[in-house]
Amino acid sequence: MSKKPKIQRASGMRDVLPEEQKYFQKILDIAENVVDFYGFKKIDTPILEETELFSKGTGLLTDIVQKQMYNLKTKGGDFLSLRPEFTPGVIRAYIEHGMKNLPQPVKFYSFGPLFRYEHSQAGRHRQFHQFNIEVIGEGDPVIDAQVIQIFYNILSELKLKNLIVEVNSIGDPQCRAYYKKVLTSFLKHKESLLCPDCRRRLRENPLRVLDCKEEKCQKITSQAPQIIDHLCEDCHRHFKGVLEFLDEIELPYRLNPYLVRGLDYYTKTVFEIFIDETQKTEDDKPAARSALVGGGRYDNLVKLLGGENTFAGGGAMGIERVVIAMKNKNIKIIKSDDRSVFLAQIGSMAKRKGLKLLEEFRKAKIEVGESFGKDSLKSQLKMADKMKAKYTLLLGQREALEGSVIIRDMENGKQETVKIESAVKEIQKRLKK
Ligand code: AMP
Repeated sequence: MSKKPKIQRASGMRDVLPEEQKYFQKILDIAENVVDFYGFKKIDTPILEETELFSKGTGLLTDIVQKQMYNLKTKGGDFLSLRPEFTPGVIRAYIEHGMKNLPQPVKFYSFGPLFRYEHSQAGRHRQFHQFNIEVIGEGDPVIDAQVIQIFYNILSELKLKNLIVEVNSIGDPQCRAYYKKVLTSFLKHKESLLCPDCRRRLRENPLRVLDCKEEKCQKITSQAPQIIDHLCEDCHRHFKGVLEFLDEIELPYRLNPYLVRGLDYYTKTVFEIFIDETQKTEDDKPAARSALVGGGRYDNLVKLLGGENTFAGGGAMGIERVVIAMKNKNIKIIKSDDRSVFLAQIGSMAKRKGLKLLEEFRKAKIEVGESFGKDSLKSQLKMADKMKAKYTLLLGQREALEGSVIIRDMENGKQETVKIESAVKEIQKRLKK
């Protein structure tokens, strides 16, 4: 049995190996392409932020802040946290850079790692990546519909099918406060039947009882009063507007009155996007139905973080979850290592000349395979075959001395010697044919 290496990655963290990088790159390319069309600009905010940003923004009573943040105290005595989500950082940047003076709304996207101290579980990592968008400074329901549409388009362009969009409204602090009372008094009578977590939630944040995954809690909440019947006029009109826009663009969605999301700052619209089947995980175990995308509106967040009263909304897509979904659907990314040209060299002088010649090809934007570490011609030609090279450039001691190079046609074995300075031109000529 092989010995375990001494230092391993920290628990719950994962390496993104080259095979998976292809998926990451593809997802990012498509996502950037889609948001570019809608006028989004990229913003990078620091991975480390003041802890207070999240305790205020994400919310002191959320699971994220209470249990999942990586906190640290610097030598200077500052309390910092690894960002568990993008939104508070982006809103902070909006306020800090006075972006209220720009034409509104401002539209931002970000991509990068986030950190949450999760229970190790399928599809949940302690470092994971999101593609995140924010629209700040516009309160029209069309924005909410567009945010949903953007993520729907990204997932569709990635060839993911059977997407399910679930939408709900959780009202504003006023109508929600009233609904909370109604819900609490309903649940109070059934408290002893709830799971221990929900008994705690009932005191801290009764809305969270609605999205509990425990069957016994779901049985109770299925009878509970629904927030949709308790929205104030403004929230009701807004929600109706969002749904009408979704109807207009023929985006399939369903209403989920139990969708509340885990963060304090949401107002009005909340949404999640799933795939219509049990997701499998990397080790092929079925995971609890997990969302690929989540988001909504947060009209109080800018003010909460010290800015002016400003509308805002957005959403985030979990990259690792999308990769799992693509793999489950057998969606392959074909990024081949094939090269139409291969450079083989024999002898130290040829190697030196070869190194220089390779640069000429790079400048001419012709991808050339090489294996400078190998000295045997046979193994280099094998490599050329593997890369399906049409032409191999052969540089031996003699060619190096003469300043020439042999071009070998790999299909018919024909060889021609040309001057090393004209190698790029000669190959360009042949590749054009
Ligand atoms: P949230 O920021 O919690 O709304 O999550 C948005 C999306 O990020 C989810 O729908 C998931 O796709 C992804 N996500 C959230 N937490 C994790 C995690 N711990 N590991 C992997 N993906 C995650």
